[in-house]
Amino acid sequence: MEVFDKAVDNLRKLPGIGKKSARRLVFHLLNVSRAEVENLAESLLKAKDQLGYCKKCFGLAEADLCEICSDPGRSSRQLCVVAQPETVFRLEASGEFEGLYHVLRGLISPLDGVGPEQLTIKDLINRIETEKDIEEIIFAFNPTNEGEVTMNYLKKLLADYEVKLTHLGYGLPVGSDLEYTDRLTLNKAFENRVNLAGEPPPG
Ligand SMILES: [Zn+2]
Repeated sequence: MEVFDKAVDNLRKLPGIGKKSARRLVFHLLNVSRAEVENLAESLLKAKDQLGYCKKCFGLAEADLCEICSDPGRSSRQLCVVAQPETVFRLEASGEFEGLYHVLRGLISPLDGVGPEQLTIKDLINRIETEKDIEEIIFAFNPTNEGEVTMNYLKKLLADYEVKLTHLGYGLPVGSDLEYTDRLTLNKAFENRVNLAGEPPPG
């Protein structure tokens, strides 16, 4: 059945969707109204057309600046550095953090050929230099090898700036994923931030 197979094949291209799930989705779509399918297709096209990345933090945005960067209620004294825009959603859901974010768009991974220059590290430095009120930079990477390498690189790079460097205290096993961390654990991780330099900078 060519039409059926094609629909299954296209769904299988999505991350986390195997043949079985793809088939189940196609059968599901056959059972709902045409309007519902149109709605789904339209919202996906809209997301593709209208969503982009924030010019300041590189998180997901519907305009030049994302909702977080354009919210005057957020504190500009704390900057939480994450690898991917998805993590911003996760941390926002924890409700613990009131500062701003910076999305690196990946982590340093020599094995995958990803170096610092492929990430938004230059933009991060630029923010620290121009947004004078940043007092603390919080690294919120998954506790993996790449997360560790990236954190150490940034620690060295930012050593000369008058900012406190911390990372989330996890209490999580190595290799665990922030995306799947529950709210309570994330709140604890924010509360138990670890100071990377050992001592806060003067002032
Ligand atoms: Zn932003």
